[in-house]
Amino acid sequence: MRSIPVKTKSATYSVFVQPRLLEKLANHLASAVGKKTSLFIVTSPEIWSLWGKRFLVSFKKGVSIHVLFVPAGERHKRLSTVEHLAEEMVQAGAKRDALLIAFGGGVIGDMAGFLAAIYMRGIPYVQIPTTYLSQIDSSVGGKTGVNLRVGKNLVGSFHHPAVVFCDPAILSTLPAREIRAGLVESIKAAVLGDARFFGWLERNLDKLLAGDQKALTQAIEISVQIKAKIVSADERERGLRMLLNLGHTVGHAIEAATNYRTLLHGEAIAWGMVAAIDLAVTRRGLSPAQAQRIRNLLFRLGPFPRFSSTAKSLLERTASDKKHLQTAQRFVLPVAIGKAIVVEDVNKEELQTAIQSTLRTMKERGV
Ligand code: NAD
Ligand code: MG
Repeated sequence: MRSIPVKTKSATYSVFVQPRLLEKLANHLASAVGKKTSLFIVTSPEIWSLWGKRFLVSFKKGVSIHVLFVPAGERHKRLSTVEHLAEEMVQAGAKRDALLIAFGGGVIGDMAGFLAAIYMRGIPYVQIPTTYLSQIDSSVGGKTGVNLRVGKNLVGSFHHPAVVFCDPAILSTLPAREIRAGLVESIKAAVLGDARFFGWLERNLDKLLAGDQKALTQAIEISVQIKAKIVSADERERGLRMLLNLGHTVGHAIEAATNYRTLLHGEAIAWGMVAAIDLAVTRRGLSPAQAQRIRNLLFRLGPFPRFSSTAKSLLERTASDKKHLQTAQRFVLPVAIGKAIVVEDVNKEELQTAIQSTLRTMKERGV
């Protein structure tokens, strides 16, 4: 089974990608983290009803398995849910030798990871992500946390999983819209770090959308490799890791302006990338021909939903993006397919122009 290493200052672990690995989970788990007799699975009722049987099939008697349920949805990614889970674990007798397993999308992964980071001052956990986005993005890199009323992911911790198991077969039950939105982050990864992968995506996007297991496995592997390489070089987002925020300045502003309801994260990032590309072309940092290739590939995942907001409102919200320094408008710009840079000198006017142009594109090409 192929594995991708993540090597940071605070942790080293592997990401395994293989269709139907869930059916042999007990063996994979034992070889990765040793024999564990007390397992706590954090999942949602929906995911468990689809995949719970398959999850359990390889475990023998003698292992105690507790399933902890959280309701699906971003609005449950809160401290109160984590507290509730912690109470349940104590009641079920979870000691420091317990192994926590996050079995769900990014919402569950972020929350279970944070629970593992603080439960009895920290226990190990394993990520078994079940959405495309969580397989290529949120399960890798150690960022865990929950939302506050005033903003997303504002409370959290760096706590890496002991191992990540990605099973592309699990994606067969995921709504097509979730796959498309997740694929936006693969395009993002290609644009910021891998021109060959970009060409591969151009050639294989239809297969990916048709659920082809071989293609999905390859796309997940390469996307994870790109993220793992960046995170390994810059665990705490002091430099290189910022590149992963390509499209996220305007994307986050759109998500906030629409109360996180109208668009999936990846869809907002698609519009955010359109804005970043426009800005890059205006600065003559990216050729119009390459910009067109990126837009074409993105829109093959669309049409993305329209949203109602104004350039003024979006511009205001980019200024309050928590990832910005107060003094400079930090921005990730693609300079070619396969290469992006972080700049500190984007001014209000050029950002406004890019947002206005994106809003025009949205009116023409959104649904
Ligand atoms: P999600 O966890 O909300 O899952 C999306 C939907 O798909 C949910 O309704 C879920 O119940 C359902 N679902 C999950 N797996 C399924 C399956 N196999 N079959 C059918 N339905 C399934 O969303 P997501 O896109 O996976 O994750 C988004 C979250 O990830 C956000 O909270 C975001 O902040 C976080 N995130 C974290 C990082 C990080 O580095 N930690 C990076 C990116 C995103
Ligand atoms: Mg993202």
